[in-house]
Amino acid sequence: MSALARALSRRTLLGGVVAAPVVLRFGLAQAGGFLFPLGVASGDPSPDGFVLWTRLAVDPVASDGLGGLGGPVEVRWEVGADENFKTLAASGQVLATSASAHSLHVEVSGLRPGRPYWYRFIAQGQMSPAGRTLTAPAPQARAESLRMVVASCSNWESGYFSAYGHMADEAPDLSLFLGDYIYEYTRGPERAADVVRPYGLEEATTLAGYRNRYALHRTDPHLQRLHAAAPCLAIWDDHEVHDDYSGIWTKTPGVAPTDFLRRRAAGYQAFYESMPIRRARLDGGLETPIHRRVRYGRLAEFFMLDGRQHRSRQPCSTGETGGKGQIVTDAACNDRTDPSRTFLGFQQERWLYDGLARSEAAWTILGQNLVMAGLRFGDGGPETRYWTDTWDGFPAARDRLTQALATLKPNNPVVLSGDYHSFWTNDVKLDARDPASTTVATEFVGTSITSTGPSYQGLMSAMPNNPHIKFFDSRVRGYMSIDITPKVMTTRYQQISDVRDPAASLSTLNRWTVEAGRPGAEAA
Ligand code: FE
Ligand code: CA
Repeated sequence: MSALARALSRRTLLGGVVAAPVVLRFGLAQAGGFLFPLGVASGDPSPDGFVLWTRLAVDPVASDGLGGLGGPVEVRWEVGADENFKTLAASGQVLATSASAHSLHVEVSGLRPGRPYWYRFIAQGQMSPAGRTLTAPAPQARAESLRMVVASCSNWESGYFSAYGHMADEAPDLSLFLGDYIYEYTRGPERAADVVRPYGLEEATTLAGYRNRYALHRTDPHLQRLHAAAPCLAIWDDHEVHDDYSGIWTKTPGVAPTDFLRRRAAGYQAFYESMPIRRARLDGGLETPIHRRVRYGRLAEFFMLDGRQHRSRQPCSTGETGGKGQIVTDAACNDRTDPSRTFLGFQQERWLYDGLARSEAAWTILGQNLVMAGLRFGDGGPETRYWTDTWDGFPAARDRLTQALATLKPNNPVVLSGDYHSFWTNDVKLDARDPASTTVATEFVGTSITSTGPSYQGLMSAMPNNPHIKFFDSRVRGYMSIDITPKVMTTRYQQISDVRDPAASLSTLNRWTVEAGRPGAEAA
């Protein structure tokens, strides 16, 4: 590493979030600026490997979305069996090109199961920061424990990512990102009071715009530290493309699905380029399948779901646009309960039920974007209101899933969700209309990393009619930390002291346990 690269590397990692891109933007690209200001990441672990990620850039938010680079760059990657890279377990050469904004996805295989590895990239005499990652245990291995940290909803303008730094400090085996990793919109002057740190970027609607959103986030030292600490499993929600979109339908008046698909494809491409996910995910043409199944020995099996791409449109939409999420009654909107509506798309539903029928690990974990258990505003009678952007907008699809859980009986189903900027501990009922029906799964909803929560008083006033919701709090920001053993799952709701403080402290709001064989969480 050159002295210049070293100096820049130090500045990028320690010199603060805003300073680094600005310093890099003026003048250093020509001088051979530091190529790794976006850090490194790994993900989608298998028993013999994982995906290693980086994206080269010298000017992370260059207006053309190409990071200040032009032609192809040769990059060497190394996987160390030890953190000093004394013994290399694997290595190779790849070409970073502008077609994928100089992002790299190295799918390493042939490694040993259930152990840590270290990795780094080298290009033009410069070395990236090193990351730590892990292979999954062998499918039949008796893994005794797994620690995972679970994030959703990190709005850059709303505050600092100290929660990500605390997640890294927990030394997890795995991190989960459940959506709204970026937000596409930029607040206007009328909402300036809500902006803790500005993007300096307009709303993302194009490939360059989305690429720059991700690049800006990846300059954040807390987020870089988390990605370098453990492999991740990432899915999206709506804001990776556009607020409240549903399948091929946007809420923007006058924008038809044919036009929206172009924007959606740009958002999906930037997501793929920015996340350590496997290339097989990209082979769908206009569609980008990201749902996947990841096994962690005999301990856990993850079904990572896509609850946006294949959905039916928002219920009771009119005109050629899809409409937005609404609060509706069944009297005013009987479309909501139409059995032809789907949340996952029928293909993904079939894939999921087939997987649930054959899963055999001790814990069955559904990582997905939106609150599943349901929230009714009212007593269930005709005047009861429902928010349609969650599973409550797709009750027939939810019935099919809860019936699949009840009949296929996968071991200990636990649903992990995001989106609502609040902590919830829920029983997922066989029949969401009947709080007395069987509990078929436990649900934990994690609060946002930074995004502002919904009205606490407003939601608490609905809780007497929702006895399946055991806990709710929208007043805190943070994440979930989950320890799994064959007998018990322990979930901690972790809260940060102040979203406006880049060095916010951490405390535990409360703790929940789920015992194997008994669905539903208990306060610990
Ligand atoms: Fe969100
Ligand atoms: Ca969302």
